Amino acid sequence: MRLSLLVGIVAAAVIAVSYWAMNQSPDDGEEVVVYSARQEHLIKPLFDRFTEETGIRVRYVTDDAGPLLQRLRAEGRNTRADMLMTVDAGNLWQAAEQDVLAALDSATLEANVPANLRDPDGRWFGLSVRARTIVYSTERVDPDELSTYEALADEDWEGRLCLRTSKKVYNQSLVATMIARHGEAETEEIVGGWVDNLATQPFSNDTAVMEAIVAGQCDVGIVNTYYFGRLQERDGDDTPLALFWPNQDAEGVHLNVSGAGITRHASNPEAALQLLEWLSGEEAQQMFGALNMEYPVRPDTEWTERVSSWGEFRGDDINVSEAGRRQVDAVMLMDRVGYR
Ligand code: FE
Repeated sequence: MRLSLLVGIVAAAVIAVSYWAMNQSPDDGEEVVVYSARQEHLIKPLFDRFTEETGIRVRYVTDDAGPLLQRLRAEGRNTRADMLMTVDAGNLWQAAEQDVLAALDSATLEANVPANLRDPDGRWFGLSVRARTIVYSTERVDPDELSTYEALADEDWEGRLCLRTSKKVYNQSLVATMIARHGEAETEEIVGGWVDNLATQPFSNDTAVMEAIVAGQCDVGIVNTYYFGRLQERDGDDTPLALFWPNQDAEGVHLNVSGAGITRHASNPEAALQLLEWLSGEEAQQMFGALNMEYPVRPDTEWTERVSSWGEFRGDDINVSEAGRRQVDAVMLMDRVGYR
């Protein structure tokens, strides 16, 4: 009886110790949990480097932005997530609006991330910039014919335009920003003009838009530049497509961000802030750009060779949060003009 009691105590102790050990990281401690709508291959190299430098481990869960946000809301104060990372200011704005992000006060982030690329209330910060611009067939379009997004509504482009679906947040953000710039009535006229000029039904993604141009289905489209970069890497630099920077005499090219914020119920907010600040630093910014052929948020960070090959341009300096603020108006507007 005594022996079995002793065995029981030892067994319980072993279980307790191994359970404790299982929940410790090898470097004794700190860990940041990230819910990420960015894919693993775009974030893991950054997190690995951060861990090397700081000893703080980063664990992450990847999913689409919608499900991650829903999960954060459902988990409430029981969430294990310290950070939410996602693409598009429209999504970041939604997260802030649904109150899952904490307002931060960080001189480092404010210095590293330009004011137009972050939430005015400090709940999320852009970490990379994506430019949504015009792509055209070098076989059938003279770049002198191109000027602005708005001009793609002119009748010269009838039957020559391809667009991605309005269901994707990227085009919602573009139209939302146009509403902020031009007002609703003018934007409705422009987007209605695009729909009239469509060569075929909207595509599910930017790559399909470019493939349709190469195939001769249409002559121009609107895409994020990194998709163009991926196509160049896949099909070669002699693909008969080129980028055009529109609106250079006006507000500039439509910009959006990928970015992150710290959750309201983070269990490790200090380490999460350390990670977020590190991501805005010089080394991480260079990596961020290189991994997805996007632009760094920091103006002092060099662009990769491929990104530089597309040339310099003027980007719209409107605060990217406008994309979220006017998202509902944009969706309704696109619906009214029959943009599917
Ligand atoms: Fe994308």
